[in-house]
Amino acid sequence: MTFSTRILTNGPEQTRNIGRAIGESAQAGDVFLLVGALGAGKTCLTQGIAEGLGVSGYVRSPTFVLTTQYEGRLRLYHLDLYRIDAPLEAWDLGLDEQLFGEGVCVVEWADRASDIFPGESLWVSLDHVGRGDERMLEFSDWPERFEPVLSRLANSLPMSDAITETEA
Ligand code: ADP
Ligand code: MG
Repeated sequence: MTFSTRILTNGPEQTRNIGRAIGESAQAGDVFLLVGALGAGKTCLTQGIAEGLGVSGYVRSPTFVLTTQYEGRLRLYHLDLYRIDAPLEAWDLGLDEQLFGEGVCVVEWADRASDIFPGESLWVSLDHVGRGDERMLEFSDWPERFEPVLSRLANSLPMSDAITETEA
């Protein structure tokens, strides 16, 4: 069985709000794996997660440095694998602490190294819908440890009517 929750957002503010809800309910050791084209909103979602974790200061995409960390309620590790050539290169970054530590880890372009992540991770895909400001966020097959995050999303979003769940 697979299951998924989809949320349609109409602009960056809504995507950030979703990120904030995620950040507020994230637990130590959570790993969020973001997948989606350039401009899909991965960094935008991460900025919200940072806000929800109580990180102060601006979170930008760490594309050139690959990984950045921020201090909040929990430490946030923000990775961007856009520029890696091979999954092993990601491993060379020394990601043990980021992926298996007590912080919260958010990875953009996680599909560039999908094998190196813990099985207990939450995959989030982001897609453009049409040519404007709509984005579809999809959470699928999340491990049980992410129930608090998903129920938080389902219960507290003002646009909760935009959520559809599917089982197949
Ligand atoms: P990525 O990290 O996936 O490359 P960014 O978050 O850096 O994408 O950029 C997303 C861009 O799209 C920003 O310029 C943002 O303002 C714009 N945007 C428009 N609509 C949305 C939306 N619904 N959600 C997120 N970003 C949006
Ligand atoms: Mg980005």
